Amino acid sequence: MTEKPWLSHYPPEVPHTLDYPNMPVQEYLTHAYEQYPEKVAIHFMGKDISYKELYESSLKFANYLQALGIRKGDRVSIMLPNCPQAVISFYGVLYAGGIVVMTNPLYKEREIAYQMNDSGAKAIVALDILFPRISNIVKETKLENVIITGIKEYLTFPKNMVYPLIQKKQYGMTVKVEHRGINHLFSEIMKTASAKVEKTAFDFEEDLALLQYTGGTTGSPKGVMLTHKNLISNATMCDAWLYKTKKGEETVLGIIPLFHVYGLTTVLILSVMQGNRMVLLPKFDPETALKTINKQKPTLFPGAPTLYIGLMNHPDIKKYDLSSIEACLSGSAPLPTDVQEKFERITGGKLVEGYGLTETSPVTHSNLVWGERIKGSIGFPYPDTDCKVFLSGTTEPVPNGEIGEIAIKGPQVMKGYWNRPEETEATIKDGWLLTGDLGYMDDDGHFFIVDRKKDMIIAGGFNIYPREIEEVLYEHEAVQECVVAGIPDPYRGETVKAYIVQKEGYDVTEEEFNKYCRQHLAAFKVPHVYEFRKELPKTAVGKILRRSLIDEEVSKQNEA
Ligand code: AMP
Repeated sequence: MTEKPWLSHYPPEVPHTLDYPNMPVQEYLTHAYEQYPEKVAIHFMGKDISYKELYESSLKFANYLQALGIRKGDRVSIMLPNCPQAVISFYGVLYAGGIVVMTNPLYKEREIAYQMNDSGAKAIVALDILFPRISNIVKETKLENVIITGIKEYLTFPKNMVYPLIQKKQYGMTVKVEHRGINHLFSEIMKTASAKVEKTAFDFEEDLALLQYTGGTTGSPKGVMLTHKNLISNATMCDAWLYKTKKGEETVLGIIPLFHVYGLTTVLILSVMQGNRMVLLPKFDPETALKTINKQKPTLFPGAPTLYIGLMNHPDIKKYDLSSIEACLSGSAPLPTDVQEKFERITGGKLVEGYGLTETSPVTHSNLVWGERIKGSIGFPYPDTDCKVFLSGTTEPVPNGEIGEIAIKGPQVMKGYWNRPEETEATIKDGWLLTGDLGYMDDDGHFFIVDRKKDMIIAGGFNIYPREIEEVLYEHEAVQECVVAGIPDPYRGETVKAYIVQKEGYDVTEEEFNKYCRQHLAAFKVPHVYEFRKELPKTAVGKILRRSLIDEEVSKQNEA
């Protein structure tokens, strides 16, 4: 058996091993500024920001943070939707020597307090409308500064006066709320702080750039420690995989949240690394997204299946010109084949499925963008990324074709979980990250995800993988979105339940779906219960929250 059978399938343009620059992540911005100062780095709601402006704003923000007392290794939370301030703050925190903690702007007080305390963040940069939530919990945390900025404010300032910031001081001190444009704020900073950012010592392998709290589809949120090396290596791998991209000439559509590591690596870092223009949208709404593609002509568009499904099912899709799109990487969840085919037909670009997790910065696998693809496969491991399939929970390999736990080794694998040595030890064994995902590898080195270990349904003694049933349902013409879950059952342990959102104009009954599933699935896999909904609960990157549906069902059963 060849050690890494996938390598023989790599196109000649993709090296098997890559060089990673030994530098901090923010150097990508320094380089982009040096190379293309006048090029547009960010387009946001009709406004352009050049690399020079982005670089200078980020340095000034770093100055500002250092003046507030932020030092190397201090955690600074960023709680913003996709907007220029999110990019400026990210690079600013890194220039200041800090560690970024990305915080989901949808979080409620309890969740914010948990994350601030767990990470020990000293400052937070947040959207103005989130301030009430933060101010209610600030006393329970170590937060010393709350820095507020508003999306609309950003737009009302003329060019070169970017970056309105308001600092609110807490704890009974004066709560000063001032709206200040960049000139005002900058001139103040110039007066009080040196224009130069104080450089800090740097260790590529050890220093953290990011504490990223995991998605929330599993267990209690843990801070994943990602080093500069982790992020740089993953961005370099994505860059190598997208070998046809023309550096400095691409436009990247940034709809997936930058506060999730997927958006952070494939939009915020990769775009700056390549010197591209990123077009940011603060939230996903199919119509705005279609209009933006039509007008801004993005060439690269990382996303998640629900996002592509939303676009493809928009009734007016034919009105828009989507032909600028060249390559899209879909991650986070399985990509239904019909969605992929329809998307490629309509745009003329490529949509390929990849795979990864927060703990791997995140991408580890992808189908070839320009080359052979296997239906239902997540593709091949990236350069320098090793992947094995182990007997679940061990480091004992299973033969090709057999289902086991997917394990990863590579420079993008996290340093560990923040302040959780035991959980780190249970997850990284003999240098292999155990992903908790079940899958297999065929003889050619294509990988397939069968399901998450936790999502496997055991009904009447049978192992049932929800994904297989979902794939069948997605092939039904009426299904817009669906998710299959195991719900408690007194006789079978668990039973299969399907939650379905039907496309507009369809009203297929439970009996009809049941008949359809019986034609395509073994009887023990056919859902026993169906529920039709208008929408399904999702995480910020659009992953359907199976767990919350199960929890709902459990409380319903307990009440009955
Ligand atoms: P997160 O850490 O929130 O990015 O979630 C990572 C998890 O998303 C993985 O462990 C997988 O369970 C799931 N995932 C990511 N990509 C895929 C994919 N292409 N197919 C199936 N599951 C995926």
